[in-house]
This record gives sequence, C-alpha cells and structure tokens, in this order.
Amino acid sequence: MQGPTPEPQFSSVADEQRCGTKIVATIGPASEDRVIQLIDAGMAVARINFSHGVDDDHRRRVEKIRTAARLRGVPIGILADIQGPKMRLGKLAGGELRLARGQVVRLFEGALSDELDLLPCNFLGFRGALKVGDRVLLADGVVELVTEAIDGDIVRARVRRPGPISDRKGVHMPDSYLAQELPTPQDRKHISLAQELGVDFLGVSFVSRGEDMERIRDLAPKMMLVAKIERRTALDNLKGIFEASDGIMVARGDLGVETQLEQLPLLQKTLIQEALKAGKFVITATEMLESMIKASRPTRAEVTDVANAVLDGSDAVMLSAETAMGDYPIEAVQAMSRIARAVETSQRYHELPRVSFRQNEPTFSNATALAAAQAAEALSIHRIICFTESGNTVRLLSRYRVNGEIIALTPNEKTLQEMTILSHVRPILCERETSLEDMMHEAQNLLLEQRVCLHGEEVIFVAGVPPGVSRSTNVMKLHRIGEPARMH
Ligand code: PGA
Ligand code: MN
Repeated sequence: MQGPTPEPQFSSVADEQRCGTKIVATIGPASEDRVIQLIDAGMAVARINFSHGVDDDHRRRVEKIRTAARLRGVPIGILADIQGPKMRLGKLAGGELRLARGQVVRLFEGALSDELDLLPCNFLGFRGALKVGDRVLLADGVVELVTEAIDGDIVRARVRRPGPISDRKGVHMPDSYLAQELPTPQDRKHISLAQELGVDFLGVSFVSRGEDMERIRDLAPKMMLVAKIERRTALDNLKGIFEASDGIMVARGDLGVETQLEQLPLLQKTLIQEALKAGKFVITATEMLESMIKASRPTRAEVTDVANAVLDGSDAVMLSAETAMGDYPIEAVQAMSRIARAVETSQRYHELPRVSFRQNEPTFSNATALAAAQAAEALSIHRIICFTESGNTVRLLSRYRVNGEIIALTPNEKTLQEMTILSHVRPILCERETSLEDMMHEAQNLLLEQRVCLHGEEVIFVAGVPPGVSRSTNVMKLHRIGEPARMH
C-alpha cells in the first residue's frame, strides 16, 4: 500500500476544493437560483450552453453568477458555448416517438412535421451528402438508421437500432462528409452577446480545423477560446486547432457518436496529453455523473470515470445536464469535488509522469516555472506564489501539477478570471507594485491577512522583473512567510 502524501493546508473547504482539478458546472433551470451553493460545493467555472434557452436566459444567468461570485468574494469563470453547425431534428409530430426496428422513416429539410414518420432536420444539404447505405444517427447515437433511398426532397431510411427520439435531438451522419459553416449566423450573434456580457471563455462546438478557430478569434480577439473536440475531422487537424486555441474540451458526447464509443477512453488520454504538451488547458466533459440527474449518489462506474479523468491530467471536469436540469445539482458538484480530492491527495497522482521541459520552449518563463515546480517538490513546499500579468507563467506552472497550490496574484481582473480554469491554481487579485521587493512584501501581508498562508511556512515566489511587463518571468525566490521580504 502506498501512504498518503502530506496534506497541504487550506483556508476553507470550498477554497480547498477549488485549487486542484477544477469543476465546470452548467447553469440551467435547476441551478440558476443556487449558484452560491454551487460555489460553496467547489464550482470554479460556470458554463452557459447557448444552444438552449434565449438571450434573456443567458443575460440573467450571467448576472446571477456574477452576483454570487461577488457575494462569496471568489473569482468564478464563465464559459459560454456556441452551438456551431450542430445538426438537429426539428419539432416532431407529437413531440416524441419510439422508432421500431425495421420501420421506415422519411427525413426532410425543415423545422416541423405533422406526420409521425416524417422527421424534420434543421440543416441544409444532407440530401446531397447522403448515399444509400450511409448511417444516420439520432439522439446522440441512441437510434441508428440506414439510408435506403433518396427521392427528391425526401430521404428514406430504415431503423437498424430502435429507440426513442424527441424534438431537437442531435443528428449525426458519420459516413458522409457534409461541408459545414462555422461560425453559423446564430454563432455570430452569440459571440457578440458573449462579448457584451463579458464572459471569460468561449466554447466553440464542431471545430474541424485550425482555420475555424482563427475565424472565431477574428470575431472575439480578447476572449479565451476553447475548441470542443467532437468531430472526426478535428482528430486529423489537432496541431492546427491547438495552435489557434487557448484550451480544448474533450467533448465526449458528440465525439462518441462521430467515432466509436470504445475509442473514447484512449482518445481522451491522447487529447489530454497532447493539449498539456502544447501548453493548453483541457476540460473533460459529458455524462461524467449522468445518473445523478435522477439519483442523489453516483454509480461506481461514474466515480471511476471522474477519477480517471483526473489521473489522465484534466485541468477541469465538467457537469452538463446534471447541474443544468437534474434533481441533485449541488450533490453532483459535491460528489465531483470529493472524487477529485481523493485522487489528488494520493501518492499515485503525485508519481504520475509530468510534462517535461521541452527544448522548443527555451524561454525564461518556462525555465523559471520548471525550476519552481522542482524546488517545490525537493523541499515539500505546498505553495508557489506567482505574480502574473497575462497568466502565461501560471499556465506553464499549472501543467507540472505540483503537490499543493499555485497562488496566482494578478492586478489584472481579466487575467484573474481566465486563470479560474487552470488546475491547481488559486487566482487572487492584488495591487500593482513598482518593485519586486514591494510585490513580495505586500503579497506576504495579503496572504497572511486572508489566512491563505501560515506564519513560518516555506513558499516559493515566482515573478518577473521589471514588474508590470507581460512574459518577463525570470525570478524565483525561496521564502519563509513572516521573514522580511525587502532586502533593506
Ligand atoms: P455539448 O458539448 O454538451 O454542447 O454537446 C459537449 C459534448 O458534445 O460532449
Ligand atoms: Mn457537443
């Protein structure tokens, strides 16, 4: 048996939960009036899925998240997901229906239908892309159809795997190549709304290649962009997508339909490793605690899935329907926090291979971050205090997954918010100082006052001189809290 590593000290339960692997919780009808409880349970980033609801819902939810964060005095990031070219069914006759094996249904381009076996699809051009024999998957792959004939405006398909479908369920055509536009006209409106509301992260759905992200970057140059990896074509273009993004999401829902389900576990590991190597943050998402939509406790398999996502190296793990519309949103975040903490405090987690220092990153910032992570390990120091303007050095440090926390001090509110997603990082706002010594002196006072650090505790300061300049990290100082931080 391996023994536990020494426990870092934390100032409050929720802060403790928010400084390891981060929890992203989707806000919806079940949780918009319980944001404070979600924060207390350990949520670090609140997600709003622009695919559901109207602009007023999004505005109201952003407002509620900001109010709750202010009340609790902690930065809570906001991630808004744009829908991208998601193919969906329109409104069915009767709202829902059960398709039987062998039954023949008809598909057409449209928004609604008044005949039971006539299924409307909300996207154009599929008649041209489908061939006889191609699969059409409905409701995230629950139902499988096989194309039998294309008659003018109508595609006839036979049900190979039966099951229930309902209004607006997802449609996938994994055997056909459908050229799709990203951003869609609706995405453009949502990008404007996201900027107007000042959300921190934009989740971009159905990305195929780096150019897709570059087009989004032109529209939202100041936002942190998260590429949702959920198309088969994206897997062939990862390098370009990483280069054009700040982080990625392993979007297992749609990815599991576009590829084979049994490929997901290995794809997840590869995507996480590649993202960290490229210096990008990574969120693992979808169905993590799915049974908690209806149950107050997760299944063994779900607990194991969350734990493995943490072991794989995720910066953050995400809840979707569990918190947006489930019966137990708070319990779901609490369960996720407990699972993540159990893994992070284990010897096994700390013995995992770390991202190694790479020759193609020969920068002062990266070398300083690596030195700090190694010194922390050698001296069993649980807190690295990093001053940052852009968040860049903190992101580099975060990748080493030190045993303890990275206190990320910044005078820049935008940077503060953007660091909420990074594993092991606790963002705290500070004043801007003019010298390194003043920075350390003031930081020490602030952290003692806020009871983040203990008197006599050994810490590591990481900073850039001269202060106030982005990407200038070049100093590491070992320090005992309480001792003079000024040299004279
Ligand atoms: P979605 O993205 O919830 O917006 O579909 C996540 C996924 O596909 O897994
Ligand atoms: Mn998706």
